[in-house]
Amino acid sequence: MAKLDWIREELKELKEKGLYVTIRKLESSQGPWVVVDGKRVLNMCSNNYLGLAAHPKIKEAAIRAILDYGVGAGAVRTIAGTMELHVELEEKLAKFKKREAAILFQSGYNANLGALSALLTKKDNGVFISEELNHASIIDGMRLSGAPKVIYKHLDMEDLKKRLEENKDKEKKIIVSDGVFSMDGDLAPVPEMAELAEQYDAMLYIDDAHGEGVLGDSGRGIVDHFKLHDKVDFEMGTLSKAFGVIGGYVAGPEEAIEYLRQRGRPFLFSSAPNPPDVAAAIAAVEILQKSDELVRKLWDNTHFLQNGLRDLGYDLGNTKHPITPVMLYDEKTAQEFSRRLYDEYNIFAQAIVYPTVPLGTARIRLEPSAAHSKEDLQYVLDAFEDLGKKTGFLK
Ligand code: PMP
Repeated sequence: MAKLDWIREELKELKEKGLYVTIRKLESSQGPWVVVDGKRVLNMCSNNYLGLAAHPKIKEAAIRAILDYGVGAGAVRTIAGTMELHVELEEKLAKFKKREAAILFQSGYNANLGALSALLTKKDNGVFISEELNHASIIDGMRLSGAPKVIYKHLDMEDLKKRLEENKDKEKKIIVSDGVFSMDGDLAPVPEMAELAEQYDAMLYIDDAHGEGVLGDSGRGIVDHFKLHDKVDFEMGTLSKAFGVIGGYVAGPEEAIEYLRQRGRPFLFSSAPNPPDVAAAIAAVEILQKSDELVRKLWDNTHFLQNGLRDLGYDLGNTKHPITPVMLYDEKTAQEFSRRLYDEYNIFAQAIVYPTVPLGTARIRLEPSAAHSKEDLQYVLDAFEDLGKKTGFLK
């Protein structure tokens, strides 16, 4: 149809500019090794940090929930009612995060969308003060709100202070930031941010998508890592990364969470998470509450991989997290590494290039998990040594 011709043109242009994303098809469950198009490859690009996505206890919990509650939640909770599983998960998450309450959303994306657009609207005399490298879901949440935003430079507390000072007369100010930055693995300086929030009477909202299950006591996240539970107003999280399932949530003060139940648009206008997903997430929280064994394994694997790569001569930037950016700088080199790792070494590892990261900072982003063995990671190190030499990247 001629009226849709522009779509073909757009797709062609994406391909010509090298911005077209090819999506690989997995024929197995998520895990350290996956089958892609009939080929068994070492998976180094999933956020399944603790290996919970196919953990037997979690699978069992999901199956049991299907037998007890079925597969669908029926509708949104304000219409079809909250299932007891939803309430149980919210209570478990609040307890795990050491917060008064939590509200569950269908995804982390929806959690940011719902919370940010409800906490500040264009009718308020207010402003978002947003970190330069915030995740797209934060940006979309602020857009949906329609309230103005100002951006401060990445990790730059002088700049944050300057923006707060410029906006000090606004009635509502929300400082919003990723806790862990997903392309670099660097951490937001939450203690300094909390001090500034207090000084300027601003709310503080931290996206802990990559922090939970990884940082803090038993994976309680970045706020627990810094022990700042009473200084950070809102902690947003996802159930799709370390927890291995799907869903998102916001934890914080009881009344504020109740307010989000009344005003959070994805909570009010999109159907509730399904029973097997909710039960699986409950099981994931329970696993972390019982033992920090998987979190310790993840860190042990992270140190092994990152020390090995640094010893080979690779630059890993400023990561303080299992997110491991192997800096190759040049876009074509990064694409070539990713392709050859896959074709010649059976390693599935993603090249991250412009526009996701600035030009000239292309990289392979590796993500070790608790489910990898030391042999798996040694195999990655050997491949990076071999390929680095073959391409002339390592001298
Ligand atoms: N925030 C950050 C920082 C993320 O990396 C992601 C996932 N890419 C999200 C939010 C969205 O989470 P979800 O995948 O659960 O929608």
